Amino acid sequence: MSENPDSVQLAVIGGGPGGYAAAFLAADLGMKVALIDVEANPGGVCLYRGCIPSKALLHAARVLTESREASHFGIQFQPPQIDINRLRAWKEEVVGKMTGGLGQLSRQRKVEYIRGRATLVDAKTVSVVGPSGERRLTFEHAILATGSFPAMLPGLPKSDRILDSTSALDIASAPKTLLVVGGGYIGLELGTVYAALGSEVSVVEMLDGLLPGADRDLVLPLAKRVEKIFHKIMLSTKVAEMKEVKGGLRVKFEGSNAPEGEQVYEKVLVSVGRKPNSAIPGVERTRVEKDAKGFIKIDPQRRTAEPSLFAIGDVAGEPMLAHKATHEGRTAVEVIHGKNVVFDPRAIPAVVFTDPEVAWCGLTETQAAQENRPVKVARFPWGASGRATTLDRNDGVTKLVIDPESEQVLGVGVTGVGAGELIAEGVLAVEMSALAADVALSVHPHPTLSETVMGAAEVFYGQATDIYRPLKK
Ligand code: FAD
Ligand code: NAD
Repeated sequence: MSENPDSVQLAVIGGGPGGYAAAFLAADLGMKVALIDVEANPGGVCLYRGCIPSKALLHAARVLTESREASHFGIQFQPPQIDINRLRAWKEEVVGKMTGGLGQLSRQRKVEYIRGRATLVDAKTVSVVGPSGERRLTFEHAILATGSFPAMLPGLPKSDRILDSTSALDIASAPKTLLVVGGGYIGLELGTVYAALGSEVSVVEMLDGLLPGADRDLVLPLAKRVEKIFHKIMLSTKVAEMKEVKGGLRVKFEGSNAPEGEQVYEKVLVSVGRKPNSAIPGVERTRVEKDAKGFIKIDPQRRTAEPSLFAIGDVAGEPMLAHKATHEGRTAVEVIHGKNVVFDPRAIPAVVFTDPEVAWCGLTETQAAQENRPVKVARFPWGASGRATTLDRNDGVTKLVIDPESEQVLGVGVTGVGAGELIAEGVLAVEMSALAADVALSVHPHPTLSETVMGAAEVFYGQATDIYRPLKK
């Protein structure tokens, strides 16, 4: 390896959960690594304007909702005083703590963190322009981990009242009325936050159901609850026209649930998906190829069509999730380090951190139906869970998608409070090729929500202790 300070074995462009995980593993394996990002510390979208700030605000929302709902079991709180400036400052503290920690981890591992915007000079050289001027580095390999950015609807007026996920997370204020365009992850998570803070939230979704990627039975408990906390949910409907007027945005809708006439909203959040950040300056000087949606094309080892360049995370394809980016990053580094491995998980969990949370992994019932694949589905409704009852939250369901011949668990879905934590057991079951019997015979602690996973496996055999579901003869 060259001792030239401007030459590294691995340059990682983009410091999100894909990029920093890759850089850290490469350093742990003894490589000379540079990690490049425009921010002061690593973290990427996930830590600065995604997963972490949204979950901090969702925690605050949950506290508000739980304190309101405690009256059901005899505890009355005074209406909350919300100091939105303090809430914003706390959220920033959370982000600062996490990103500062990543900066420290980079230094401990001797990863050279270079702040600035990267341009590929060629397939072996990167130029970084940042606060301390220009820096040029040559590398043996580089990992492109430049993430994604929010998609916008065409034809919208230029207006501060139109938010994307980044500006919505700034919570400048809780508007009186908020229209959320898109009933996916971001719309429902941030809609939940704003509703808890007191905004009257309406959601418009062009498809005929919320969270189109999830099985309908998992979405049902969430749909029932959001009907109560949101002002209006307009499915199979789109925004036809939007104009800025005094005090708000006037919106005309089209579709089967479009309201009559025009509606005025103080703010509008557009959350209709994200696009890959694949227009990396200089990438056209390499052999990197993109698909029709703009994702960088990669092989199972995360190699691009240019031998020295790998790509991971949001820029390299769906699902656009932090944990997928991290694992891809680690795979790419292992390949660069000489291991013959591929990225081939059976289960990448998806968690929507709404209230209740919706989580799934592995094969979904919808996918099985689309593929004409025979499966048996065993469901355990949370009405039968002691723990859910003590939490006053029976609105949940746990289900297993099982191969009827081998009895192998192929997929798991959970909706309910804490579903995002529970799904990890499902991931392990699917990855380890667990049989329904393995799950049913594993002693789960009582009283916990995790028992619902065991309970669903017992339902598969028609022998669930807590629910009478005999097998059909
Ligand atoms: P990113 O995190 O997008 O990071 C890419 C980095 O590259 C950025 O810092 C960018 O500035 C930098 N960069 C780009 N171009 C250049 C360049 N030319 N030079 C230098 N730097 C550059 N996922 C989950 O799994 N769980 C969640 O709860 C979750 N919540 C989310 C909430 C919101 C509101 C949003 C928007 C997203 C959420 N996501 C969540 C998705 C998650 O943030 C992404 O999947 C994840 O951040 C992708 O990681 P990445 O490493 O691919 O890139
Ligand atoms: P999304 O794909 O989850 O949802 C977008 C929704 O907008 C879809 O339901 C789609 O049908 C709808 N839509 C599209 N065009 C529309 C239109 N013109 N009018 C009305 N509805 C329209 O996208 P998102 O919510 O923007 O989130 C982007 C991505 O970020 C997610 O797919 C996910 O990968 C990631 N994310 C993950 C989490 C998490 O893991 N908890 C949280 C937030 C974001």
